Formats: sequence, structure tokens, C-alpha cells
Amino acid sequence: MQIYNTLTKKKEEFLPLDPPNVTMYVCGPTVYDFFHIGNARTFIMSDMIRRYLIYKGFKVRFAMNITDVDDKIIRKANEEKISASEFSKKYAGEFLHDIESLKIKKADIYPYATEHIEEMIELIKDLEQKGVAYNIDGNVFYDVRKFSSYGKLSGKNIDDLESGARVEINESKKNPLDFSLWKKAKEGEPSWESPWGQGRPGWHIECSAMAMKHLGKSIDIHAGGSDLIFPHHENEIAQSEASTNCQFAKYWIHFGFLNIDNEKMSKSLGNFFTARDVLKKYSAETIRFFFAQTIYSGPLNFSDELLAAAEKGLEKLNNLVLHSLDYLKNLSSDAERSEFDFHKYYSDFEKAVDDDFNTPKGLAVIFEFIKDANKYIADHNSDKEFYTGIIEFLKKTAQDVLGILHIENLSQGKESDIEDALINLFLELRIRLKQEKQYQLADEVRDKLSKLGIQIQDSKTGSTYKKS
Ligand code: AMP
Ligand code: ZN
Repeated sequence: MQIYNTLTKKKEEFLPLDPPNVTMYVCGPTVYDFFHIGNARTFIMSDMIRRYLIYKGFKVRFAMNITDVDDKIIRKANEEKISASEFSKKYAGEFLHDIESLKIKKADIYPYATEHIEEMIELIKDLEQKGVAYNIDGNVFYDVRKFSSYGKLSGKNIDDLESGARVEINESKKNPLDFSLWKKAKEGEPSWESPWGQGRPGWHIECSAMAMKHLGKSIDIHAGGSDLIFPHHENEIAQSEASTNCQFAKYWIHFGFLNIDNEKMSKSLGNFFTARDVLKKYSAETIRFFFAQTIYSGPLNFSDELLAAAEKGLEKLNNLVLHSLDYLKNLSSDAERSEFDFHKYYSDFEKAVDDDFNTPKGLAVIFEFIKDANKYIADHNSDKEFYTGIIEFLKKTAQDVLGILHIENLSQGKESDIEDALINLFLELRIRLKQEKQYQLADEVRDKLSKLGIQIQDSKTGSTYKKS
């Protein structure tokens, strides 16, 4: 397996530190709002990478941090006149909800920054003892000049950076590139006790402390959006390696931006759609299919037309599954043993995705398989093994790795469509009864549906229902 490593700037053979174990850390959200579909690209593509590693037989320990203390959180919480922790708890909950809706596997661990203050303080103390951090009046900074390989991830040179850096007024740092490890408490902000007085941690130290605590001093894969290469990941390396003296992460993976009109989708530009809103129109499978069509590292443009096209593309996949399930229920007695070569498609799929998680090529193999399997179905009267083989191939690749298929939902879907139509019929009937003032009968319909676990909710615009 080959992975493009941002650190070495080339594709490398994937050799984890302790096979078959793999540790993977992905920079997660700052929880001050619902996340947008650009963030979702990073979350979904890291999920596909994790799932592919599992497919390959690795035992993956996966962590994604939740940044629950930050300037934006504090500002928005103050605006809403609630505490920062109450505010961030709400959006952390929304984050986990949307992650589940996007069919992203739950992380083994979601470390929260505010629950690791002690570890961060220990790390800063260690950096201070080693002479790479300095305290100025309760503000602690990292001294980038003390870390000789500063810039190795982003390929930036300290001298060039320094000449371009702006020195902020009121900044007492030694060097404009030095970054905050600990920020002195300000009025109205959450703060913790520390050897440097009341304050809170800087953003970069959070990830170093949490990654090392949960995954160890050296981790296999560290990933995040490409906006994080500099300074966030560069600083994570500087902090962790100055403290431990070992390599912090062996492979660095960065996800390309999701753009709108060739501009990065971002909260600050206001050109975003929340994942939740997109999910109102398209299924998680469609959104994932749309992302899987482009290599994770390249840019990708977002548009409604592309999502609609993805939805259409998925029909072919779903139809083959539904067809095969139908055939399995109604096998003919004179079915023949099939000669269909499943092995070839598994091997092509692996060859494609082994090459730096190339999901578009993996999808091409799946669609080639769909085409060939459909042709084989038309020409042969095949037996149970053949149809089971189709379901199994699509389950292992499209469902388990890419998450663009959900066989159980699909097979239940047909039955639940009829169920929904019948319930709606009863709702219409009840409205007619009420219009004709037959209230007793209308209430009876409601009560009987309720006994079946179907709760009717009336509003000004009509009636809806909920299944319990
Ligand atoms: P944030 O909550 O803004 O810190 O972002 C959470 C994750 O989403 C980080 O790994 C970011 O790098 C990533 N991200 C932010 N915007 C985009 C985008 N437009 N496309 C892809 N990834 C993004
Ligand atoms: Zn991070």
C-alpha cells in the first residue's frame, strides 16, 4: 500500500510502526456551530481511509479531537449569555449527531480539549524545562528558533517566514513566529490554574497533548484538512518532537478543500452549506459517493448538479443489489454454477485503493463489476453462490469501505415505502373526518394508530407522524 506523505512529499510504502496495529489521529471540529459540507469532506474521507485500513486487516485505533475552548466559542457564548462550556457542549452534541447521519464510523475516542488541561500543562512545563518555551507575564510561547527542523512539514523556511510576518502591536514575543502555548486569562473567559497563573491553552498544544496521551508518543497517521499544514501541524510537530525526541507522526495525510466557485468553503467567507442542510436533500450514501469520486487530496467543487448526478449514479448500484436479493428469493430449480470471476474484481479494487486511497479508481472497479455482473445475469441462469457473491463483493467494497451502500436499508426500504403510504392514507382520512365534524371517529383513528406506535402530530399546516 502506498500513501502520499506530506512530510516527505512523496508516495511511500505504508509500513506501520507496530503492525497490524495502526494509530490514526484526525484534527476534528471547533464546536461553535454546525459543521459545513467542506468539513464533512475531511471527516468522510478520513472515515474511508480508516475503513480501508480495516478492510486490509489492520487494527486501527482512531482518535478525533473536539476543540471546545477557543476565541469563537467564547465570543458566541457571551453573545448568547451562556457559559462557554454549555455552549460548546451543545455543538459537540450536534457534531456527533451529524457524524452519525453521514454514516461515519464513531471514533474510538473523541478527546475534548477541556478534559485534557492537565496533560497540556505537563507538556508545556516539559517544553519550558527543555528551554524551548518561555513565559512572559503569564503568557507562554514556543520558541521556534529552538527547534532546528521547524518548517519540515510545510516546506517553509524560518527566515522567509520571519521577514513576511507581521509583528502584532502589544505582542511581547521574542520572534513573530513564536506561538502561544498558554494564554493568560482575560475578563469573561474560561480559565484554569497553572504554574503561569490563570489561563487557557493555545490551540496547537491541545492536539499534541491529546494525540500523545491516547495514541502514544509516535503515531502512524496524522491527518486533517490542508489548511492545517501550516501553522497547526507544523507546530504540533515542533511541540511533540521537542518534548519526546521521537518522530511524532510517520505519515501526514491532508485533505483537499471543498470549494464553491473555486473558493474554499468556509464559515468566515459565508459561502457554506451545513452538512445537516445538505442531508435534508441527499442521502449520506449520495454525499459519500460524491466525495469518493475525487481523490481525497485534490480540490473538489461543490454543486447541486454534481450531487444530483451522484444520486443518479448510485441507482445502478442499488438496482443490482435489489435484483440480486430478488433472485435469491426466487431461485429457479435448474440454476447453473457460475464461472464469474469475483477474484479479479477484488484484486482490481485493492490495486486501485492501495494506490494512495484512490477511491475514484476503486469506484471505477465497482462500476465495471456492476456492468459485467448485469451482463452475466442477462446471459445466464445462475445459482445461489453467484448472487451471494454479488452481494458480498458490494458489501465489502461499496458498503464497508466506501459507505455508499446500505443493503439492510435498501431491502427494508421497499416494505417501508408501502407502510408510509398506508399511514399517510389514514392521516388523510382523519383530516376528512374532522372536516365533516366526525370528531369521535377521527380520535379513534388517532388512538388506534398510537397503539401501533404511530404518533400523529397536528400543526397549522397539516398532520405528520412519528414512529416510536
Ligand atoms: P474547523 O472546525 O474549521 O477547525 O475544521 C474541521 C476540519 O475540517 C479541519 O480538519 C479542517 O481542515 C477541515 N476543513 C475546513 N474547511 C474545509 C473545506 N472547505 N474542505 C475540506 N476540509 C475543510
Ligand atoms: Zn489538530
